[in-house]
Amino acid sequence: MSLLDYEVIIGLEVHCELSTKTKIYCSCPTTFGAEPNTQCCPICMAMPGTLPVLNEKVVEYAVKAGLATNCKIARNSKSDRKNYFYPDLPKAYQISQFDLPLCYDGFINIETDEGEKTIGITRIHIEEDAGKLNHDEFGRGTFVDLNRAGVPLIEVVSEPDLRSKEEAESYLRKLKSIFEYIGISDCKMQEGSLRADVNVSVRKKGSAKFGTRTEMKNMNSFRSISRAIEYEANRQIEVIENGGIIEQETLRWDDISGKTFSMRDKEEAQDYRYFPEPDLAAIKLSDEYIENIKKSLPELPESRKKRYLLDMNLTEKAAKFVTDSKYFSNLFEEASSICNNPKAVSNWIMSDIARILNEREEEPEDIRFSGKELGELVSLIDKGTISSAIAKKILEEMFENPENPSKIIEKKGWVQISDENAIKEIVNKILEANPQSIIDYKAGKDKALGFLVGQAMKETKGKANPQILNKLFLEGILGDNSVK
Ligand code: ADP
Ligand code: MG
Ligand code: ZN
Repeated sequence: MSLLDYEVIIGLEVHCELSTKTKIYCSCPTTFGAEPNTQCCPICMAMPGTLPVLNEKVVEYAVKAGLATNCKIARNSKSDRKNYFYPDLPKAYQISQFDLPLCYDGFINIETDEGEKTIGITRIHIEEDAGKLNHDEFGRGTFVDLNRAGVPLIEVVSEPDLRSKEEAESYLRKLKSIFEYIGISDCKMQEGSLRADVNVSVRKKGSAKFGTRTEMKNMNSFRSISRAIEYEANRQIEVIENGGIIEQETLRWDDISGKTFSMRDKEEAQDYRYFPEPDLAAIKLSDEYIENIKKSLPELPESRKKRYLLDMNLTEKAAKFVTDSKYFSNLFEEASSICNNPKAVSNWIMSDIARILNEREEEPEDIRFSGKELGELVSLIDKGTISSAIAKKILEEMFENPENPSKIIEKKGWVQISDENAIKEIVNKILEANPQSIIDYKAGKDKALGFLVGQAMKETKGKANPQILNKLFLEGILGDNSVK
């Protein structure tokens, strides 16, 4: 038996912090990064006698998430207490939803190597986040920060439909992108706004029954999720191959050693002693309420992608790349409406903009120039005012000091030289210095012309108009090895 004889089964429970201004059951602010315990009140600190009041925005955002992921929306749902003891949970229970979640029976489509695949969404429910434990680096103890206690979350539970780490990543990216588009969360994984519990099991190929699963809690980077799935699937296969059985348990993934460690036996629903929250009313939604939210949803990535393929003639790859991020997609639409050249705009986004973001270790949302400015840049190339070499330099500058491209050109003196007389001199100089290229070109090596043009570009720091260079070099080669 080998790894190839097994199939990996994955299901994700994704927690997403909603970007409402205030918490789910009190009016404390939800902003990230404040001094510990400056954003809490008697309600989220669980003082005796306090009562929760449900924030309506949380319901609205969760319904948005449900509609955008093709879920059914419950007309009747309720809140339940999930009881467990942990120092970051001051009430010793979390208000969540048990048997009547707000949204259920949905799906999203993901792209895989074999084409599009539908992943079922079992349910989406609302709940409150817990506080955060800070372990003191000087060994004085552990401190509790309750700023996060009561921040609203949705939990999105997938069906066990994912079959590889690549599919799991693609699913999570798609979910993240949808939630960004509908504006319910900033989805910043590094700040913990998007975290996933990863359930993994393996079975022999062809077997109809699922194997026993293990669960890895609270993972918040694509890289660790992917590594953890690979490690855990291989570990399970090895146990089975050696005649062992898989224990259903909760594991901790350790990024440094690249291994999973046992944390505790998997808890069952009964361990949580769920019961209906007596201090909150049932949540009843009218058809009209849901209809209004449906109408307020923006165009989603899938529909944008279709439009880019059909109306704007982008390639499949470009349309996918641009629509993966709401920020790229908005930039693309605005820039294309200015320059009327969507193909060129998508190329700039996929190549240079993506590269510069990567170098700066930034995300698409960090781009400070507007689509209008990017559109102008493309127009300036199309009109022949600047070469693409100069455009690249302008783009770098736009990342540093976002400004109108024309302003940057003026300031830096980067206008393209299109005056033939000014270029002739350079062309002649380069022809004289490179007699072999002339012989090569005449012998049919077209590349030699490109080399000569490249030399002239170097000489003029990218400012010479490439069309005119081409024309003059040809004249020169066919004439007397110089242009008059
Ligand atoms: P719990 O709330 O106890 O974790 P659920 O039944 O809600 O249990 O399942 C949680 C997640 O585990 C879901 O995302 C589901 O798709 C996934 N899952 C269930 N069975 C398996 C399995 N055999 N292998 C992998 N994932 C599974
Ligand atoms: Mg679970
Ligand atoms: Zn509060």
